[in-house]
This record gives sequence, structure tokens and C-alpha cells, in this order.
Amino acid sequence: MTELQFNENVCAACPTTDCMMKCQYITFGGRDEAHAEMMKVIRGEDSRILHECVTCYACEEYCRRGNHPYLLIQERREEKGILSAPRAITGQWINMTRMQGKFLVGQIKDRALSCCYLPELLGLANGEIFKDVQQAVVFGAEFMCPAVHSHFAKMSVVRERLPIVIDNFRRLSVKEVIFLHDECFGTFTVIAPAYGLDVPFTPIYYMDFLLQRLTELKNRIKPLNIRVAYQRPCSNRLIPDKLPLVKKILDMIGAELVDRTYQGENALCCGEVFKATSGYQLFRDVRNRNINDMLAARAGYCVFNCPACQVSLSEQVAKMGLKPIHLIDLCKIAIGEKQMEVAADE
Ligand code: SF4
Ligand code: SF4
Repeated sequence: MTELQFNENVCAACPTTDCMMKCQYITFGGRDEAHAEMMKVIRGEDSRILHECVTCYACEEYCRRGNHPYLLIQERREEKGILSAPRAITGQWINMTRMQGKFLVGQIKDRALSCCYLPELLGLANGEIFKDVQQAVVFGAEFMCPAVHSHFAKMSVVRERLPIVIDNFRRLSVKEVIFLHDECFGTFTVIAPAYGLDVPFTPIYYMDFLLQRLTELKNRIKPLNIRVAYQRPCSNRLIPDKLPLVKKILDMIGAELVDRTYQGENALCCGEVFKATSGYQLFRDVRNRNINDMLAARAGYCVFNCPACQVSLSEQVAKMGLKPIHLIDLCKIAIGEKQMEVAADE
């Protein structure tokens, strides 16, 4: 039986309750109230948290004591039938991502390149950077991290599908899988162990791979001399230790990461999921604060990690005068493989 491993004694003795005190979407009268509400969640009682959480994932990062508040909150919601989105939308996501045997598996040896179930990633996984691994692509619902269902408080779907996805990878007999989807890497390195699931390969974060390839290709890099804002995806909260890679990669290609209010721990989600879980008002508020912050920091480009954020924000980002681009495409431009629609920051 796949069950979340959560140490409630650690929470009972927690001196900060940072998971809730730092939450950007629920406000508490003070630490005592936040702690009392969190303890209600842990005991399986009703709590404001179960009704007000917008599923931004951030408490996973705020908790520095190794617990999984985000996963627990979504588990408790499902137990109590407090779904975060209308039932039709929740069901639509479950159906859209159902395994139907229409997956793609390339020429796999020791290493695979996972594009999750995001066609945009197939479009990025090519060229000089990926030349040794692009034939080893895997793609489809059979290889998709099911973490998206946590946004809909459907942890039963995560628990049911994750072991199947792990088995599908196991059958490939790979030693390493490079994950182009941030959320996949978080799923296999954090969510799987949190549910006691063994992962039979070494997950590789694509930014580690990117940095290594850029080092190998450094003679081809022409500094971009642009100022960029980074759109941090929600699931990146599972793997905050990987955040410094963004700056390292940008430094390497001569792009300056601007200093802004909504970055690091204080980052704002793209807000796409809020349309379903909390409504358009919150979505617009978060989106506009976020983009205005990029503009105030005088960024010329908005750099994406997750294709879902890119789809969600690109149009508005462009309307407001920033150039939207995925980090991988920016690297391809830096090595002269791809043309910049606009070559450098004017
Ligand atoms: S989840 Fe983490 S931060 Fe929150 S109360 Fe428990 S130990 Fe403290
Ligand atoms: S997931 Fe986000 S909104 Fe929900 S409790 Fe955690 S920090 Fe707050």
C-alpha cells in the first residue's frame, strides 16, 4: 500500500510553522494560530487550510524539517471530499492523462530523455545540446509524472499511477533518465520517496545536463548581453536545491538574472492552475503582479523552465513588452544554433 510518510511529531515540536507562516495565500493571526491549524490537518480534522490552499506547492519548500505539508494537505482534502476544483475539471484532467498505450519510446540504451507528456518538450529536445540523447526520447501518459493531480486534491491518482510509471521506466532497463520536465524530476526524487517508492534509475535534472553541455560547448557561446526574469514553476518547490542552477546557466550564456521581489522563496506561480482551483480573479492578480515585477526590475526577457508556465504566460508577457522564451531555447541561441527573434536586448 502506497502511503505518505509524514512525521507528525516533528510538526508537534516545530518552533516556526514556516510552512504556513510563509504561505502567500493564507494569512494567520500569528504562529500559534498557524500551528493549531496545521495540527488539525495532521489529526485529520477540518481546518481553514483545507479550504483556502490554492495548491502552489510552496510549503514543501518552506518546511525545512523534512515533512511534506503540501502532500499531506492534498491527501486530507481528498479524504474529506474537499476538492480544490469543480468535479468536471478534476475528472477531465484524470481522463486527459489516462494511459492509452499511445506512448513513444526511442532507441534506449543506458539513458533515456523524458519529455513527460508535454509535446513542447519534444520540440526542445534536439540540436547540438541533445545530440547524444535525442534518439532516446520517451514521451506519453505512460511516462508522465502524475503530480499534476495533486492540484486537484486527487492524491489517489498520484498513488495509483506513480508505481505504474516507475514500472514502465523499469521495463526500459535504463540506468539514468534525464527529465526535461521540472515536475517529473521532483516527482521521482521527492514524491516517490515520500510514498516509500523505490526508483530503479538515477534521475538527472535537465539543468545539470544543460550546464554540463554548455561547459563542453563553451567555445561556441556568444554572450547574449540581455537582462532576464525567471519564471519559477510551482513544482520547483520540491527541489529548491536546484534553483542556483538557473543563475549558473544564465551566467554562462551572458544573460543577467534581474533581482526582483517575486523570486526565490517569494516566487509567484504562473497562476494557470488558479483558473480551475480559485478563479480568474486570483489568476489575474498573481499574473499581473508577477509580470509588473519583471518589468519593474527592467528585464527584457521572461525565461521559462516549465512549458505549462510558458503556455500560460507568454501572450500576456509579450503584450506587456517582455520577450517570452524557454531556457533551453536561450541556450541554443547562445551557441548560435537558433536565431533570436530579436537578437539582443535593445
Ligand atoms: S510541516 Fe514542517 S514547517 Fe510545517 S509545522 Fe510541520 S515541521 Fe513545521
Ligand atoms: S500549497 Fe501553497 S497555498 Fe497551499 S498551504 Fe502550501 S503554501 Fe499555502
